[in-house]
Amino acid sequence: MRILVVEDEIKTAEYLRNGLGESGYRVEVANTGIEGQFMASEFEFDLVILDVMLPGIDGWQLLGSIRRKSAVPVLFLTARDAVEDRVKGLELGADDYLVKPFSYAELLARVRTLLRRGPPREGESFKLADLEIDVLRRKVTRQGQRIDLTNKEFALLQLLVSREGEVLSRAQIASQVWQMNFDSDTNVVDVAVRRLRAKIDEPYPVKLIKTVRGMGYSAEVPD
Ligand code: CA
Repeated sequence: MRILVVEDEIKTAEYLRNGLGESGYRVEVANTGIEGQFMASEFEFDLVILDVMLPGIDGWQLLGSIRRKSAVPVLFLTARDAVEDRVKGLELGADDYLVKPFSYAELLARVRTLLRRGPPREGESFKLADLEIDVLRRKVTRQGQRIDLTNKEFALLQLLVSREGEVLSRAQIASQVWQMNFDSDTNVVDVAVRRLRAKIDEPYPVKLIKTVRGMGYSAEVPD
Protein backbone atom coordinates (compact mmCIF):
# COMPACT_ATOMS: atom_id res chain seq x y z
CA MET A 1 0.00 0.00 0.00
CA ARG A 2 1.44 3.36 -1.04
CA ILE A 3 0.68 6.52 0.88
CA LEU A 4 1.46 10.08 -0.19
CA VAL A 5 2.01 12.48 2.70
CA VAL A 6 1.81 16.18 1.79
CA GLU A 7 3.05 18.15 4.78
CA ASP A 8 5.37 21.17 4.93
CA GLU A 9 6.35 20.77 8.59
CA ILE A 10 9.43 18.59 8.34
CA LYS A 11 9.07 17.15 11.85
CA THR A 12 5.49 16.05 11.29
CA ALA A 13 6.29 14.73 7.82
CA GLU A 14 9.18 12.62 9.14
CA TYR A 15 7.08 11.40 12.06
CA LEU A 16 4.44 10.20 9.60
CA ARG A 17 7.02 8.69 7.26
CA ASN A 18 8.71 6.73 10.05
CA GLY A 19 5.53 5.63 11.80
CA LEU A 20 3.66 4.54 8.69
CA GLY A 21 6.83 2.96 7.31
CA GLU A 22 7.15 0.86 10.46
CA SER A 23 3.49 -0.11 10.11
CA GLY A 24 4.32 -1.58 6.72
CA TYR A 25 3.23 1.16 4.32
CA ARG A 26 5.32 2.64 1.53
CA VAL A 27 5.40 6.35 2.19
CA GLU A 28 6.34 9.21 -0.12
CA VAL A 29 6.57 12.71 1.31
CA ALA A 30 5.96 15.99 -0.49
CA ASN A 31 6.86 19.15 1.45
CA THR A 32 4.98 21.64 -0.72
CA GLY A 33 1.62 21.74 -2.43
CA ILE A 34 3.27 21.95 -5.85
CA GLU A 35 5.38 18.88 -5.17
CA GLY A 36 2.30 17.10 -3.82
CA GLN A 37 0.33 17.98 -6.94
CA PHE A 38 3.11 16.66 -9.15
CA MET A 39 3.41 13.39 -7.24
CA ALA A 40 -0.34 12.84 -7.04
CA SER A 41 -0.67 13.29 -10.78
CA GLU A 42 2.41 11.28 -11.81
CA PHE A 43 2.20 8.28 -9.47
CA GLU A 44 -0.45 5.91 -8.14
CA PHE A 45 -1.25 6.01 -4.43
CA ASP A 46 -3.71 4.09 -2.28
CA LEU A 47 -4.15 7.00 0.12
CA VAL A 48 -3.21 10.68 0.37
CA ILE A 49 -2.65 12.37 3.74
CA LEU A 50 -2.92 16.07 3.15
CA ASP A 51 -2.08 18.96 5.46
CA VAL A 52 -4.43 21.85 4.77
CA MET A 53 -2.00 24.67 5.58
CA LEU A 54 0.68 24.53 2.90
CA PRO A 55 2.71 27.27 1.27
CA GLY A 56 2.04 27.99 -2.40
CA ILE A 57 -0.77 25.71 -3.50
CA ASP A 58 -2.70 25.08 -0.28
CA GLY A 59 -4.34 21.83 0.76
CA TRP A 60 -7.76 22.85 -0.50
CA GLN A 61 -6.49 23.66 -3.99
CA LEU A 62 -4.51 20.43 -4.04
CA LEU A 63 -7.53 18.43 -2.91
CA GLY A 64 -9.59 19.99 -5.71
CA SER A 65 -6.99 19.10 -8.31
CA ILE A 66 -6.67 15.52 -7.01
CA ARG A 67 -10.45 15.07 -7.10
CA ARG A 68 -10.72 16.23 -10.70
CA LYS A 69 -8.67 13.18 -11.70
CA SER A 70 -8.95 10.51 -9.08
CA ALA A 71 -11.10 8.94 -6.37
CA VAL A 72 -8.08 8.03 -4.18
CA PRO A 73 -9.02 8.24 -0.47
CA VAL A 74 -7.87 11.55 1.05
CA LEU A 75 -7.41 12.14 4.77
CA PHE A 76 -6.80 15.80 5.58
CA LEU A 77 -5.09 17.29 8.58
CA THR A 78 -6.47 20.48 10.02
CA ALA A 79 -4.96 22.57 12.78
CA ARG A 80 -8.20 23.76 14.25
CA ASP A 81 -11.27 21.86 15.19
CA ALA A 82 -13.25 24.25 13.05
CA VAL A 83 -16.51 22.88 11.71
CA GLU A 84 -16.14 25.07 8.58
CA ASP A 85 -12.85 23.36 7.80
CA ARG A 86 -14.32 19.90 8.11
CA VAL A 87 -17.29 20.80 5.98
CA LYS A 88 -15.09 22.48 3.39
CA GLY A 89 -12.77 19.48 3.18
CA LEU A 90 -15.60 17.02 2.83
CA GLU A 91 -17.34 19.26 0.30
CA LEU A 92 -14.19 19.23 -1.77
CA GLY A 93 -14.26 15.44 -1.69
CA ALA A 94 -11.98 14.39 1.17
CA ASP A 95 -12.94 11.15 2.89
CA ASP A 96 -11.95 11.91 6.46
CA TYR A 97 -9.96 14.34 8.58
CA LEU A 98 -7.86 14.54 11.73
CA VAL A 99 -7.41 17.55 13.97
CA LYS A 100 -3.83 18.39 14.94
CA PRO A 101 -2.30 17.42 17.27
CA PHE A 102 -3.29 13.78 16.92
CA SER A 103 -1.84 10.58 18.31
CA TYR A 104 -0.18 8.09 16.01
CA ALA A 105 -2.67 5.40 17.12
CA GLU A 106 -5.53 7.64 16.04
CA LEU A 107 -3.93 8.30 12.66
CA LEU A 108 -3.22 4.62 12.08
CA ALA A 109 -6.83 3.71 12.88
CA ARG A 110 -8.08 6.23 10.29
CA VAL A 111 -5.56 5.06 7.70
CA ARG A 112 -6.57 1.44 8.18
CA THR A 113 -10.25 2.26 7.88
CA LEU A 114 -9.70 4.22 4.67
CA LEU A 115 -7.58 1.48 3.15
CA ARG A 116 -9.88 -1.32 4.22
CA ARG A 117 -12.21 -1.97 1.40
CA GLY A 118 -12.99 -5.43 2.69
CA PRO A 119 -13.20 -8.31 0.29
CA PRO A 120 -16.50 -7.76 -1.50
CA ARG A 121 -18.62 -10.83 -1.90
CA GLU A 122 -18.48 -12.33 -5.36
CA GLY A 123 -21.21 -11.04 -7.61
CA GLU A 124 -22.80 -8.83 -4.99
CA SER A 125 -24.78 -6.06 -6.59
CA PHE A 126 -27.71 -3.77 -5.86
CA LYS A 127 -30.31 -2.29 -8.12
CA LEU A 128 -32.71 0.58 -7.54
CA ALA A 129 -34.69 1.74 -10.57
CA ASP A 130 -32.04 2.46 -13.24
CA LEU A 131 -29.23 2.69 -10.65
CA GLU A 132 -26.89 -0.29 -10.44
CA ILE A 133 -24.11 -0.90 -7.95
CA ASP A 134 -21.56 -3.58 -8.71
CA VAL A 135 -19.80 -4.06 -5.39
CA LEU A 136 -17.06 -6.35 -6.66
CA ARG A 137 -16.00 -3.93 -9.37
CA ARG A 138 -16.90 -0.86 -7.28
CA LYS A 139 -18.86 0.35 -10.25
CA VAL A 140 -21.96 2.52 -10.19
CA THR A 141 -24.14 3.25 -13.21
CA ARG A 142 -27.40 5.04 -13.94
CA GLN A 143 -29.13 4.51 -17.24
CA GLY A 144 -26.03 2.52 -18.10
CA GLN A 145 -23.77 5.57 -17.63
CA ARG A 146 -20.77 5.12 -15.37
CA ILE A 147 -20.64 7.40 -12.30
CA ASP A 148 -17.35 7.92 -10.48
CA LEU A 149 -17.65 8.02 -6.72
CA THR A 150 -15.08 8.38 -3.95
CA ASN A 151 -14.81 5.49 -1.48
CA LYS A 152 -16.97 7.25 1.09
CA GLU A 153 -19.60 8.23 -1.47
CA PHE A 154 -19.66 4.62 -2.63
CA ALA A 155 -20.00 3.34 0.96
CA LEU A 156 -22.80 5.82 1.63
CA LEU A 157 -24.70 4.88 -1.52
CA GLN A 158 -24.24 1.18 -0.89
CA LEU A 159 -25.52 1.56 2.68
CA LEU A 160 -28.64 3.47 1.60
CA VAL A 161 -29.47 1.23 -1.35
CA SER A 162 -28.79 -2.02 0.52
CA ARG A 163 -31.44 -0.89 3.02
CA GLU A 164 -33.87 0.37 0.44
CA GLY A 165 -36.90 2.16 1.85
CA GLU A 166 -35.50 2.25 5.37
CA VAL A 167 -34.87 5.64 6.96
CA LEU A 168 -31.34 5.87 8.33
CA SER A 169 -30.50 8.55 10.87
CA ARG A 170 -27.48 10.78 10.45
CA ALA A 171 -25.87 9.12 13.47
CA GLN A 172 -26.39 5.65 11.96
CA ILE A 173 -24.91 6.80 8.68
CA ALA A 174 -21.94 8.47 10.42
CA SER A 175 -21.11 5.37 12.41
CA GLN A 176 -21.47 2.97 9.48
CA VAL A 177 -19.76 4.97 6.78
CA TRP A 178 -17.09 6.74 8.84
CA GLN A 179 -16.88 4.31 11.77
CA MET A 180 -17.05 7.32 14.02
CA ASN A 181 -19.50 9.39 15.96
CA PHE A 182 -20.06 12.93 14.86
CA ASP A 183 -22.21 13.61 17.92
CA SER A 184 -24.40 16.54 17.11
CA ASP A 185 -22.30 17.65 14.16
CA THR A 186 -24.35 16.04 11.46
CA ASN A 187 -23.15 18.55 8.87
CA VAL A 188 -20.66 15.97 7.74
CA VAL A 189 -23.39 13.52 6.72
CA ASP A 190 -25.44 16.26 5.06
CA VAL A 191 -22.43 17.38 3.05
CA ALA A 192 -21.68 13.84 1.92
CA VAL A 193 -25.31 13.28 0.90
CA ARG A 194 -25.28 16.56 -1.05
CA ARG A 195 -22.16 15.48 -2.95
CA LEU A 196 -23.62 12.08 -3.65
CA ARG A 197 -26.87 13.58 -4.90
CA ALA A 198 -25.02 15.91 -7.25
CA LYS A 199 -23.59 12.83 -8.93
CA ILE A 200 -26.33 10.24 -8.82
CA ASP A 201 -29.58 12.24 -8.65
CA GLU A 202 -29.24 15.74 -10.06
CA PRO A 203 -28.49 14.77 -13.67
CA TYR A 204 -31.48 12.37 -13.77
CA PRO A 205 -35.24 12.95 -13.69
CA VAL A 206 -36.00 10.34 -11.00
CA LYS A 207 -34.52 11.23 -7.60
CA LEU A 208 -33.62 8.22 -5.49
CA ILE A 209 -32.26 9.73 -2.27
CA LYS A 210 -34.97 11.10 -0.07
CA THR A 211 -34.61 13.47 2.90
CA VAL A 212 -36.95 12.50 5.71
CA ARG A 213 -37.33 15.63 7.80
CA GLY A 214 -36.20 15.30 11.36
CA MET A 215 -35.19 11.68 10.79
CA GLY A 216 -32.54 11.18 8.17
CA TYR A 217 -32.24 9.77 4.69
CA SER A 218 -33.51 6.84 2.68
CA ALA A 219 -33.05 5.48 -0.82
CA GLU A 220 -36.22 4.54 -2.67
CA VAL A 221 -38.01 4.85 -5.95
CA PRO A 222 -40.50 7.73 -5.54
CA ASP A 223 -44.19 6.97 -6.07
CA1 CA B 1 1.36 22.98 7.42
